[in-house]
Amino acid sequence: MEIKVAKSAGFCWGVKRAVNIAVNSIGKTAKTYCLGELIHNRREIERLQRLGMEFIEDMEKLEPGNTVVIRSHGVDPKVLDFLKRKGLSVVDTTCPFVKDVHDKVIKLEKEGYPVLILGNPNHPEVIGIAGHVKKNPMIVSSLKELEELPNFPKLGVVCQTTLNMNFFKEAISILSLKVKELKVYNTICKATSVRQKEARELAKSVDVMLIVGGRNSSNTTKLYQISKSVNERSYHIESKEEVSKSWFVGARSVGITAGASTPQWVIKEVIDYIKDLCKGGEISGRGICKTSGRELQTS
Ligand code: SF4
Repeated sequence: MEIKVAKSAGFCWGVKRAVNIAVNSIGKTAKTYCLGELIHNRREIERLQRLGMEFIEDMEKLEPGNTVVIRSHGVDPKVLDFLKRKGLSVVDTTCPFVKDVHDKVIKLEKEGYPVLILGNPNHPEVIGIAGHVKKNPMIVSSLKELEELPNFPKLGVVCQTTLNMNFFKEAISILSLKVKELKVYNTICKATSVRQKEARELAKSVDVMLIVGGRNSSNTTKLYQISKSVNERSYHIESKEEVSKSWFVGARSVGITAGASTPQWVIKEVIDYIKDLCKGGEISGRGICKTSGRELQTS
């Protein structure tokens, strides 16, 4: 069994940065809160809890005089104002690429463009972007919704950084027929597009494909959908415990990728588990188990 690991699997630059800043902020005040889940990965959240971080959704419950971490998805500026007024020390880990989307919607609005955001209206990143637009922005997550929009004289468009590139292309081609003056910023993060392209190519070249990451992680779910569209034997797992031996019947190769919020140690556990199954003869390929692609270390 050959195990091929995608080079881009796991934490992106922005998530790695956010986790490092968050960990360094623990212990500076009596309590260190994080507003919402720092990243969409249950096991990493549990690790951070063990280090002393408290995850909290309700801002009213934050006690003044403590530290609160803003996650890489960013927030509505009104949230930052509220936290500062409440006397909390704010550690903002918003990814600079997400901040760039905030700047772009502010610019579009100043230039007189109504703003349309392509993305999931319930995703924290999209809620944060929308919070930077004064007049209610449109948020669209499906091609059907776009088809139903009326014509516009002017429109400015940005997108969620983890949007599927094919969806973005189709959305812009629909809008180009409806809008006279269309200004588009492709704000899909490079880390996302590289990951999606690599997942598609890897999925095509292996018998079985595993996508590791939280079920509540939007970018992991998109990787799974992309993989599944080219390889029926694609499986979305959160951890090694979910791997089933039956998936590997007759398989000679397995590809592994992971969302931007999946820590290396979780990916490594999955790789080691498959290697053990191989070595123990529990799945095919006994004695010829080898790993290619990205080298991973446990953290
Ligand atoms: S996917 Fe891109 S935008 Fe999102 S946190 Fe990672 S580097 Fe930042």
